[in-house]
Amino acid sequence: MKQSQLLVKWIVPASVSALVGAMLLGTLYWAAARTDEVAAARQKDLVTLIVSKLQSSVAHDQESATVWDDAVVKTRERDLEWLDVNLGQWMNTYFGHDAAFVLSADGKPIYEFIAKPFGASTATDFYRAYSPLASRLHKRLAAADQEGISDRVLSIGESDLTFVGGRPAVISVKPIVSDTGEIKQRAGEENLHIAVRFLDRDLPIQIGGEYQFAEMQFMTTMPHDKGHSQIALRSKSGEIIGYFNWHPFEPGTNVLDATLPVIGLSVVAIFIAASLAGHAIWGRSVKLNSNRQELQSLALRDTLTGLANRAHFQNELVVRLQRSKPEDVRSVLFIDLDRFKAVNDTYGHPIGDKLIALVAERMRDILPNALIGRIGGDEFTVLLEMIGSSEVADTANRIVASLREPFEIEGVYITIGASVGVATATGPGAEANELTRQADIALYHAKAAGRNAYAVFGDHMDELLRTRRKLEHSLRDALAGGTQIEVAYQPVYLADSSGPCSVEALARWIHPELGPIGPDVFIPLAEEIGLIHKIGSLVLEDACSLIAFLPSISAAVNASAAELSSPGYPLRVLSTLAKWGVEPSRLEIEITESLAINGEQETERNITMLRTAGVKFAIDDFGTGYSSFSRVQNVTVDRLKIDKSFIEGISGGQNSAIVEAIINMARAQGLQTTAEGVETNEQREALKSLGCNNVQGFLMSRPIAREEVMALVNTGNAKHGRG
Ligand code: C2E
Ligand code: CA
Ligand code: CA
Repeated sequence: MKQSQLLVKWIVPASVSALVGAMLLGTLYWAAARTDEVAAARQKDLVTLIVSKLQSSVAHDQESATVWDDAVVKTRERDLEWLDVNLGQWMNTYFGHDAAFVLSADGKPIYEFIAKPFGASTATDFYRAYSPLASRLHKRLAAADQEGISDRVLSIGESDLTFVGGRPAVISVKPIVSDTGEIKQRAGEENLHIAVRFLDRDLPIQIGGEYQFAEMQFMTTMPHDKGHSQIALRSKSGEIIGYFNWHPFEPGTNVLDATLPVIGLSVVAIFIAASLAGHAIWGRSVKLNSNRQELQSLALRDTLTGLANRAHFQNELVVRLQRSKPEDVRSVLFIDLDRFKAVNDTYGHPIGDKLIALVAERMRDILPNALIGRIGGDEFTVLLEMIGSSEVADTANRIVASLREPFEIEGVYITIGASVGVATATGPGAEANELTRQADIALYHAKAAGRNAYAVFGDHMDELLRTRRKLEHSLRDALAGGTQIEVAYQPVYLADSSGPCSVEALARWIHPELGPIGPDVFIPLAEEIGLIHKIGSLVLEDACSLIAFLPSISAAVNASAAELSSPGYPLRVLSTLAKWGVEPSRLEIEITESLAINGEQETERNITMLRTAGVKFAIDDFGTGYSSFSRVQNVTVDRLKIDKSFIEGISGGQNSAIVEAIINMARAQGLQTTAEGVETNEQREALKSLGCNNVQGFLMSRPIAREEVMALVNTGNAKHGRG
């Protein structure tokens, strides 16, 4: 698992939930502690109140017996039995007083009651404890002090928290007085009643039970127990006589304890939620990433083949060349399919696309690990790394051989071919653009060498390139000057008669320094630099001017695709014909097979326009393209010129079946036929017997100058010529 994934899916969710949990717990602990603090303070107040209430309640209990006429009388009478029942036993059983004493006004004991088994404290202990209170009260009575008397408190009294024989107790002293007021006593003459209640007996338990204090107990020393609350009990003089100690009721802690599981669950829930969110976020980011990668790969790949596109190939080349070490060898191969355009034109783009895909497949089979790019319609590139020159040559050869094998597409076998240009760079410092340029030049040479071949770039090629550039300049000059381009005419004969019936106009370039340059060189050059129109016009003009004076023959001119698709072409042709007064039907325009069958709309319109005007059309080099016979049937031309490659072996029986089929098909379609490249009598005889209309070739005549044509037509003799 990657770090970032771990982070998003687990660590962040865990941290978030831990943080939230900690904050929640912290807040709760704080709130609980505060609540407990407040509760503890309340409980202390309550216990303090209870103790003070206890003091007053002991006094209050006393008054139920001490403010009573009978008590005054019985005490005076010293009726000990009565005193024992009403001021001793009764107080003990009914109010829980632990001891009771009756004193005379001058402080002498009259009666004493000490409950068992708390008799451990002696009468002397009690005396020591209550006598200060008794004498104080006596003085107050004598002074007729009335302070503290109210609806609830019927007589004055003294009470305190104090020790009795080392045991804490509440002691209360009250005068025994008349309840009706009928028995008069002089101030200070009253007998006294003392009630004692020990604090360390069952009192804590009683208070605890009554007020819900847990573990309430009395302690004589200050307990050091953190978990407990306590309050000090003090006598009036401020002496600490002990502590009430109890386990405080902690509502905050209770709530916290009750809430903890819920908090725990919440933290787990938050963690789950955050983790789920983390997973979702991660999932989404993974998806986004893959989308981005898809987009990136779309930007880098050629959609038809899946190979690298031009930009990607070039970038990769730059990057890899920059990384080169001194011993690194890298080669770039430029591969151009031969005659792919013809396939595309003939069968249409869908088949062309399939062919390209199949080519890519074969290349991948040959080079499973190399970087392969498709940089144009039928142009591919390969980057070979760490491979020596002989292996590079071998690879180029294998590519050429593989692409020469027929491709089967939708039941049709299509044979193309490929030319390969190779350029190699060793060590660092090589420049991608330069390497590419060299591979391109090498490719050009491979094509010039006759296609289905590869060429490795060498410095001589740059020399040749410079020559070509010069040639381009020269051609421009030649056309501007208008004298170097000449027109030769090759006579065409009827198969069964000796006189020429037509001439084909062929362009010639007589270079002032280099001499004659063949049309195979300068026609493609002129097409490339956009000057073919000029040559076409020049040849057409010359041909028309020739046959204008030779009414017995017609003329044929060759037209390039660029000319035929140009909108001004028909007008130019027709105006030239008109200018020389030549009947349009005496001109034949030779076009390529693919143009005739799959021409652009503009081309088709031009052909139709010219044919409507009477101009004839012929398919040149028929049989070298890809037209099946059936496709030729819809074609609007007047003649097929059977390519010279079919004528070569015709006398020996080779090819004769094909030529026969072409001738028969043409005749059925009402088309004329011309056989090209006829060099022997046998060929001519064979063609004649197959029903071919016209013959053209070195046997009859090489291309000759216009003066020679005039002489030939006028004399019917043309055995010599120039080619
Ligand atoms: P193409 O139209 O097929 O012209 C016939 C070519 O066959 C001529 O080559 C001619 O010299 C050659 N040839 C004639 N008879 C024989 C023979 O018996 N044996 C052999 N081996 N060859 C023979 P050329 O003059 O070199 O022309 C080459 C091509 O250049 C022409 O092929 C044509 O496609 C093109 N071309 C020539 N002139 C023009 C032009 O004015 N415009 C255009 N667009 N193309 C032209
Ligand atoms: Ca021709
Ligand atoms: Ca031809």
